[in-house]
Amino acid sequence: MAALLAVVDAGAIDVLELDRLSVGYDRAPVVRDLTLTVGRGEVVALLGANGAGKTTTLRAVSGLLRPVSGAVRLAARDLAGVSPTARARLGLAHVPPDRGIFFGLTVAEHFRLDGTDLEEAAGHFPALSTLRDRKAGLLSGGEQQMLAIARALSRRPKLLMLDEMSLGLAPVIVSRLLPVVREFATSNGTGVLLVEQHVHLALKIADRGYILSHGELAATGSAEQLRRDDALLAASYLGGAAGGAPGGAASGAPG
Ligand code: ATP
Repeated sequence: MAALLAVVDAGAIDVLELDRLSVGYDRAPVVRDLTLTVGRGEVVALLGANGAGKTTTLRAVSGLLRPVSGAVRLAARDLAGVSPTARARLGLAHVPPDRGIFFGLTVAEHFRLDGTDLEEAAGHFPALSTLRDRKAGLLSGGEQQMLAIARALSRRPKLLMLDEMSLGLAPVIVSRLLPVVREFATSNGTGVLLVEQHVHLALKIADRGYILSHGELAATGSAEQLRRDDALLAASYLGGAAGGAPGGAASGAPG
């Protein structure tokens, strides 16, 4: 019975929990009191204007920044004091805006370096097989991003964080990459936290979204609710959504 309950509970545990997280750089925190969850197999979009604090949030989850207060939990484990490397070993994968790939290495060498399987990754992105001997520096922007995401997926993370994967890419490329991420999350139970400039593309594949404004949670709701609320999305992108959702279906920030 206890074993059965443990199995049921494991399914209910969120992959990521941010509990009133405040984090920043030298002075006052730039992200304040942020509470956010990502469930197993769930894709969550983190949205907001430039400078709202999205990248800062992801860096706190990775352990690159130390929170001023609040907690970060990965599958119920408190990550306070856990190094970025140990977090990666616990199942956290973070693809930063610069993609974190090595221009002098070929596609295949990236997988050899990671000890993961290129052919398995090519199951998600078939083009990688053809590109296996090409140096990453000679790939197009879309191909580089494909490599970066494939490397992260091949580690079968509990949580995948994608920061501005569309930087420098045409929307048509982004619209091909995002469904692969969606499908991977659903079939492997990986939680995905997605920071994306192409808000409508992100909300098409996301389950839920959070909108940050000036470092605070301005609104949260299902992707469908947020997608319908053009006024809220526009306001968040102009940095004016703090203090509650203007009308619309999505709810304002709690407390
Ligand atoms: P963008 O899309 O522009 O990166 P963002 O929502 O990811 O926006 P952050 O990069 O998290 O925003 O920046 C949040 C705030 O923290 C901004 O005011 C920014 O100037 C500040 N900031 C970012 N990086 C640093 C740093 N290394 N040192 C000091 N302040 C920083």
